[in-house]
Amino acid sequence: MKTTYRKTKIICTIGPATNSLEKLAEIAEAGMSIARLNMSHGDHASHLDVIQKIHKLNEKAEIPTAILLDTQGPEIRTGDVEESFTLNVGDTIDISVGGGQDIEEKSRIVVNYRDLMKDMNPGDRITVDNGLINLDVIEKTTFGLKCVVVDGGVMKSRRHINLPGIRVNLPAITAKDEADIIFGIQNNVDFVALSFCRSAEDVEECKRLISRHNGHAKVIAKIEDQFGVQNYKEIITAAHGVMVARGDLGVEVPIEELPIIQRKIVKEAATQGKRAIVATHLLESMIENPLPTRAEVTDVANAAYEEADCVMLSGETTIGKYPIKAVQYLDKITRRTEASGGLAWARTRKCKDEKGQLAKAAVELADSIVADAIVVITRRGIMADHVTNFHPVKPVILAFTNMSTVRRRLSMNRGVYTYRIDFSNDPEKTIQNAFNLIQKRNLIRKGGTIVIVSDILAGDNRVDAIQVRSLDSVSQAENENETTDTVN
Ligand code: PEP
Repeated sequence: MKTTYRKTKIICTIGPATNSLEKLAEIAEAGMSIARLNMSHGDHASHLDVIQKIHKLNEKAEIPTAILLDTQGPEIRTGDVEESFTLNVGDTIDISVGGGQDIEEKSRIVVNYRDLMKDMNPGDRITVDNGLINLDVIEKTTFGLKCVVVDGGVMKSRRHINLPGIRVNLPAITAKDEADIIFGIQNNVDFVALSFCRSAEDVEECKRLISRHNGHAKVIAKIEDQFGVQNYKEIITAAHGVMVARGDLGVEVPIEELPIIQRKIVKEAATQGKRAIVATHLLESMIENPLPTRAEVTDVANAAYEEADCVMLSGETTIGKYPIKAVQYLDKITRRTEASGGLAWARTRKCKDEKGQLAKAAVELADSIVADAIVVITRRGIMADHVTNFHPVKPVILAFTNMSTVRRRLSMNRGVYTYRIDFSNDPEKTIQNAFNLIQKRNLIRKGGTIVIVSDILAGDNRVDAIQVRSLDSVSQAENENETTDTVN
């Protein structure tokens, strides 16, 4: 029997530390549900290699790993410098767009944003390298912007730039993003994370692009600047899920706002029945060290306590020295926190939808009888979503579908583990197939109590129903029915 199921799912960004077949197998075994491809790095050939390896592993995996393609988004970067140089506090430096030949390298930074001069004014802040270097604009000159160094550091080539509070005039989906998303659709990715999502319309544009190319990927909106924060409710409504992208967000908003914004976004997603991902710096020190800091452990526990669907690793699993250990720590910390209870925002959510009401009743019933599992028979995953959205306290949600794409999509749902079975025209036979698989794989304890959400036949009609059964309630003869469980 499985010991216990972890409710909080784990997303790992794949990079040099994890992109071999062996490491991908190890990290999936350690608890990764979703592999993230960060399109800010690598090329299509290197990402395709990872996708193919994951597909190969999925052929044998009990639960397949889903793939999330994360777009680069409208990113501003500095140009190349011949040699790294140090910016000291109080120095002045010119920032220009593209050219400007007659200025010394060391007194000039070049950026790739053509509207810089139009958008920026004296007093505005320019942040380099995720907040490590901060510059304040003091003057507009013929060359560009004269800035004073507020926080100094070493200036290297192609550094990431943030302009906090400025609505940069770049499209939500750049030409590179579009090419990357199409590449992802062609290679069957399950989720597209839209970077710097600023409005519900950005989400809609991404959904239109995916459907134009006949993709099934779901859109995850990354909230990472002040405009995303302002519009987070409507963005969540439009998207399948939301990511609290704390890396950029921590630069784009005053950093002390970050925990409050995280809490607001995770709560709103739970209230609306959408997926929530808490990302970045969860175990940052494990890039170098085999143990997390006390503060990191508490941060991970806080995300689990808020009942986020997923926690996400970046540098820890791309370039870190201890990627597998980092996942094992996430596994341990989230399990322990889940056992002590969470904020339970989802359990009080209002839902007018009839299927949602049924799911709510099933979750309340399962919690009150302390059931071991809620079994959901779900073709398109919709009923499994409804059940997820009320966050059962103890029972695992075992979803049974006959579609592989649905299986992988549901891997983002908190507390849901999905298996593939054949569906019969007779709903009772389908339930038997599910029970057979539970027994064959020892998914819950012998004699365990199960709440079933499925349709049943009422005369010639199918009606939605909730049933309570024990795992032993399937007879031996029925057990001899063959169960099919193909992964892809
Ligand atoms: C973030 O900023 O936290 C994030 C997840 O996005 P990226 O890694 O693309 O910067």
